[in-house]
Amino acid sequence: MNPYNYKNNQLSVEGLSIKQIAEVIETPFYCYSQSAIQNAYQEYDVNIKQLDSLICYAVKANSNQAIIKTLADLGAGADVVSEGELRRALMAGVPANKIVYSGVAKTAHEIKFALEQDIFQFNVESENELMLLNEIACHLDKKAAIAFRINPDVDAKTHAKISTGKSENKFGIPISKARDIYQKAAKLEGIVVQGVDVHIGSQLTDLVPFKLAFSRIKKLVTDLNQSGIPISAIDLGGGLGVNYEQKGEISHGIEAYCQIVKEIFTGMDCQIILEPGRSLVADSGLLVSKVIYTKQGEDRLFLIIDSAMNDFIRPSMYDAFHHILPISKKDTQVTYDIVGPVCETGDTFAKNRTMGKMSEGDLLGIASAGAYGSTMSSTYNTRLLIPEVLVKDQDMCIIKKRTDYEVLINQDQLAPWQ
Ligand SMILES: *Cc1c(COP(=O)(O)O)cnc(C)c1O
Repeated sequence: MNPYNYKNNQLSVEGLSIKQIAEVIETPFYCYSQSAIQNAYQEYDVNIKQLDSLICYAVKANSNQAIIKTLADLGAGADVVSEGELRRALMAGVPANKIVYSGVAKTAHEIKFALEQDIFQFNVESENELMLLNEIACHLDKKAAIAFRINPDVDAKTHAKISTGKSENKFGIPISKARDIYQKAAKLEGIVVQGVDVHIGSQLTDLVPFKLAFSRIKKLVTDLNQSGIPISAIDLGGGLGVNYEQKGEISHGIEAYCQIVKEIFTGMDCQIILEPGRSLVADSGLLVSKVIYTKQGEDRLFLIIDSAMNDFIRPSMYDAFHHILPISKKDTQVTYDIVGPVCETGDTFAKNRTMGKMSEGDLLGIASAGAYGSTMSSTYNTRLLIPEVLVKDQDMCIIKKRTDYEVLINQDQLAPWQ
């Protein structure tokens, strides 16, 4: 479902026009459709519920409390990668027994905190991490339920910066070493071997790498079961891509993805855990900005807008394509380079983009910005973190306020000798 449509030439989300929202909240800001998030979750839910399953939202995609709560209220668990995310998930009401903890370098402090919360599972990524987890669990007189994150050596065919399942990537245990490490873990006092975990990357638009990876995982689970290490949970990670380039109705491919999972894992007698992030929240979000200046360059026309790479880094970091929509529909079409005000050439949202003619002061929206948008933002150039707005039907609510300069600058402290 695409929650953003034009009504009387005005871009609207659910029952509200973006222009109306922008009259109350200064640009730039993130706007999220709550219904879009709920619909995406439900699409996973109806298509996977034939299996004993748990959908753990990957909180790093968008960790606002209101977003996590939206999903927790539908029954979602959470996939977290830091103590901070674990705290966010717990605070938003995700029960600890629905939380899996991923991440390539959990510290002793983080492990201790997670053990004290009695989370569902640690996804362990190395032997040294296993040993540390065991030691801390024994010390606290607890048992840590674990899965090993297995690196299946599959090319996810996605952007190199978000591909994680090749043997050269830093993630997980090579599948060739998996059997040995499971044997080792099974003997440890503070460890309960529970699952097998895999996550091969993000923004996968081809389902074939999933099939390959999942088949290898299934074989491993069968082998482990036969060698006396019973596996009760299979965590398939996240990674399903969204269709950033498609116009109009956006198809998630969630149903097709779940179909593959069912084909491979039906009858395995294991709980299947999914960790979707992007595919739950990306399409719900719009980054609303205003044109500050138009500027004629030597051979191109620039639109300089009030949001920048510090607010939304995907175009500069991943060369990501995002549709850019005028908030008030225009008939005349013009080709622009759309850029932000930050002092970096990489601060470019789109090159050679043809869209409705924009004037200074006009509003535009960067589409599919609900995932890896606000969570990857920074205050580079001493720009304030921007507000976030949640829309449901006719209602809107600010779910994160703009910070102010005083708070931001007062985080710094002078040394006593200054
Ligand atoms: C990032 C991440 C996810 C979520 O990935 P998406 O592409 O947003 O679905 C899930 N699991 C792990 C371990 C991750 O690192």
